[in-house]
Amino acid sequence: MMSPDQTFVYNGLSTRVVFGSGTSARTGDEARRVGVTRPLVLSTQEQKNEAQALAAKLGMDVAGVFSGATMHTPVEVTEKVMQVVAETKADGTIALGGGSTTGLGKAIALRTDLPQIVLPTTYAGSEMTNILGETSAGKKKTLRSPKVQPEVVIYDVELTLTLPPRLSATSGMNAIAHAVEGLYAEDRNPIVTLMALEAIRAMAEGLPAVLDKPRDVAARAKALYGAWLCGTVLGSVGMALHHKLCHVLGGSFDLPHAETHTVVLPHVVSFNTRAVPEQLAPVAEILRSAGPGQGLFDLAKRLGAPTSLKEIGMPAEGLDKAAAIATESPYYNPRQPAREEIRALLDNAFHGRRPST
Ligand code: NAD
Repeated sequence: MMSPDQTFVYNGLSTRVVFGSGTSARTGDEARRVGVTRPLVLSTQEQKNEAQALAAKLGMDVAGVFSGATMHTPVEVTEKVMQVVAETKADGTIALGGGSTTGLGKAIALRTDLPQIVLPTTYAGSEMTNILGETSAGKKKTLRSPKVQPEVVIYDVELTLTLPPRLSATSGMNAIAHAVEGLYAEDRNPIVTLMALEAIRAMAEGLPAVLDKPRDVAARAKALYGAWLCGTVLGSVGMALHHKLCHVLGGSFDLPHAETHTVVLPHVVSFNTRAVPEQLAPVAEILRSAGPGQGLFDLAKRLGAPTSLKEIGMPAEGLDKAAAIATESPYYNPRQPAREEIRALLDNAFHGRRPST
């Protein structure tokens, strides 16, 4: 809500968004619209068939299908795909997949400035951001550049029907984390707040329905609509403690991305509630819960998603190290955490305790 003495900056994203069931049929037209006539289609090995089917329907001279996208955008994979781009004279990319495939398209765009068309098939939200995380020699570095912001995003609900239930749940909770942190972002503004609340509402309704009926188009449409808004929040404002902690846990302990977000979010929200209760109160309201952290914890449970770091591979002896790394350099959060507070938060997340607020 806008207060009378508030000042803010709002930057609209330049990405064109096409949303709806069956919209992937428009990919060829959308590519031509941004001047792409010889695209390289990208996917993971697991989604190779879908990528080939899309390539066959484009109605243009495709440069090829590269199905080597993998988690965390390793530079070795990027080097391989850059050779293919050069050899085939591709003039743009079409990424069909989740955050890993989108990441590969962004890595190409960073090096070539070729236009990107993205067809997201998870709820990760990378397609709406100018953020790229690349891994080299086991270290993940994150950068922001206008070059990696995709030109066109086509959200075809049909492409998400096959997303396995467990991945739908954790990918959805990962998306909600972007919206929740947008509510107390340092550079938040009323438009982004509106989007974040609508995003959480859509996800809170869509995800349980998806888990009940994974192939239900209406449920999937709601969740994908929420995911678009969550990604837009991530692309519009800065994040805080939750994203910092997940980055530390993923980078230092190789924990799975979406699961880590799912487990950590309720605990960070509970921690931040003391500092910004009025900004987080709508989350509890939307989730029909006494507290926002509790509501998110209960949602994860309802979705059958993991709720403890222990069950996703975190070693107990790593908790001290994680707390130390997370507090060694300063970053924005509405409540500045001391190392022992982070250690206590991680302990609760490790054991999967329901937050107190
Ligand atoms: P992912 O892209 O790694 O996909 C996980 C697996 O699910 C893959 O095997 C994929 O082929 C498969 N899959 C995806 N959609 C499917 C579908 N509809 N049906 C069947 N299988 C499907 O997972 P993700 O969670 O989307 O992405 C995670 C990565 O994205 C991480 O590396 C993370 O850092 C990155 N990310 C980046 C940003 C950003 O703004 N840069 C934002 C969010 C996530």
